[in-house]
Amino acid sequence: MRTSYSALETYRNCPLKYKYQEIDKIRRPKRIDAVFGTLVHGALKFMFERNPLYPSIDEVLNYYTEHWREKSEKIEWLDPDRKEQEEKMYFEEGLKLLKNFYKKNQPWTFNVVELEGRFSLDLLDETSGKTHTLAGIIDRIDKDPESDMYEIIDYKTGKRMPGEAELVDNLQLGVYHLALTSRWPSLDPERFTTSLSEAIRDIEARLETGDFPPMPNPLCGYCPYQRICPMWSHEYKEEATKTASDAEVAQAIQDFFELKKQGDAVKDSLEHARGVILSYMETEKLSRVFGERGYITKNVQERVSYDLEKLEEALKKAGVWEKILEPEAKKLEELLPSLPLEVARAVEAQTSKKKIVVLKPTKKKGATEDEEEK
Ligand code: SF4
Repeated sequence: MRTSYSALETYRNCPLKYKYQEIDKIRRPKRIDAVFGTLVHGALKFMFERNPLYPSIDEVLNYYTEHWREKSEKIEWLDPDRKEQEEKMYFEEGLKLLKNFYKKNQPWTFNVVELEGRFSLDLLDETSGKTHTLAGIIDRIDKDPESDMYEIIDYKTGKRMPGEAELVDNLQLGVYHLALTSRWPSLDPERFTTSLSEAIRDIEARLETGDFPPMPNPLCGYCPYQRICPMWSHEYKEEATKTASDAEVAQAIQDFFELKKQGDAVKDSLEHARGVILSYMETEKLSRVFGERGYITKNVQERVSYDLEKLEEALKKAGVWEKILEPEAKKLEELLPSLPLEVARAVEAQTSKKKIVVLKPTKKKGATEDEEEK
């Protein structure tokens, strides 16, 4: 299979998005955030190109502005009413970002060895015996002349920065590492091949069944396929195609939220009343209290739970496991006296008992059905 790190990353985030993008090849509308990313990347490349001198910050900003004019006409707007406002916001954000970046990263202070370098490398999956080709682009590679260390620079223009845990498992970094080692083989080439191969094997298995499920994630808001994705398409249903059942379900959804809210409020009130009653019973040392509609009785019950694995081990040892298969408190209690002391103790050690207080309401004679407490 020929693929790229970004395709594999897409697959790991959402198999259905991968299918739309890589298999069905559904055209992606050009959204403002994607155009913004491309233009800032282009300006950053220009910033580090010496021709014969590095460009000044004004030249970088002019480059960005000119390209913005060309590309902005092709943007497809989700909400055309916000076009002007959003375009201005993104454009100015780019100017600010480039100015700050230039100030902190003057191009002549870096030893750049490659800009937007394309790579293509073979990856042998030792499990399946297949060789796959991975292709991609690395934004920038620097080499520190003193330490001889290579640095891979990947510009991120989105607001969301990946956390440390994400980076450990990041396919993009893995592929970059492999790309670097294929070009400079003295570096260790082994590290990320396993997870890359696993992802490719997974995709190949899904290709046979056609099962690429949607996996909603925090990036759904930026997904160009949201309108056709089964997880979101209902939100975009055209008014003209709606039927009576749409109106009915809209009302049911409304009711659901309202009832859920009421249910939560009832739960909170019930919890509060329970607390007041219990604390009164404890202070007054009472087990039953009376009101106009009936009385409430306090019962203390015992809930038993087990560490099932350890319990199974102990009961199998005693040769009685088959008698209970599913450990139930009652069966176990009956069985305990007949067990050897050592096993009985082991069972008890894996059993935790919790006392719970139950308040049981009882309606007074003559109370109507709707007055009964549930
Ligand atoms: S909207 Fe979300 S769940 Fe649907 S295809 Fe895109 S990323 Fe996947």
